[in-house]
Amino acid sequence: MQFSPFLKVEVPVTFKDQPGVQSALFYTDIRVCNLNCYQCHNRKSYRGSGEKYTYEELSEKLEMLRLLGVELIIVSGGEPTLEKKLREGLEFLKKKGFKVRIDTNGTNPEIIRELIEEELVDGFAVDIKIPLLENTENYTPEQLRRFKTILYSKTDVDDEKIFNYVERVKRTKQIVEESGLPYNIFRTVRYPLLRESELQSISENVKSVPHQINPFYPVEEQE
Ligand code: SF4
Repeated sequence: MQFSPFLKVEVPVTFKDQPGVQSALFYTDIRVCNLNCYQCHNRKSYRGSGEKYTYEELSEKLEMLRLLGVELIIVSGGEPTLEKKLREGLEFLKKKGFKVRIDTNGTNPEIIRELIEEELVDGFAVDIKIPLLENTENYTPEQLRRFKTILYSKTDVDDEKIFNYVERVKRTKQIVEESGLPYNIFRTVRYPLLRESELQSISENVKSVPHQINPFYPVEEQE
């Protein structure tokens, strides 16, 4: 019995995630991510054991989704680019005739480039969580404190970690822009820790790909 890289959890079907396209959401292991964002919904709400769909189960699920008119499979996480069997899973989805979008935090530009070159994806939703300044020396200490909380939920993090995040997301952004894939989108959460002017500067820095600003919903603490 071969396991796919996708978690065995409820698969939401939505028109909203990729506006106007009937999409279904699959998740790689939600617990696997290289960031620890402020009030991460996915990680805080997941209570499962990490069990994955077998390819047989996945195949049945996909046939059902096809009957519901689903055209696009959105792969979310965790951070999907950290999933070792991601390629194998994407090949399976493509062979079944679905379009595929990957939701990523943008910190793995090398993998993103490879997936584009291998024609395994039709787009990426890339989170741009903080302004990506040309020169990282221009961040103020006060900004860095807030950005550390947004990305790592704490302030005792080396500045270098933030600079490294910025450089990697900038590279991803450029690769995704140049790819011209039809389902590309950049997204920013309106974190209470982000200033309005910072949100504006993120938007202004995004040209050829749609930019969506999503509301921030505090996580309800669970027992
Ligand atoms: S990148 Fe996404 S999954 Fe990872 S901690 Fe941030 S919000 Fe959660």
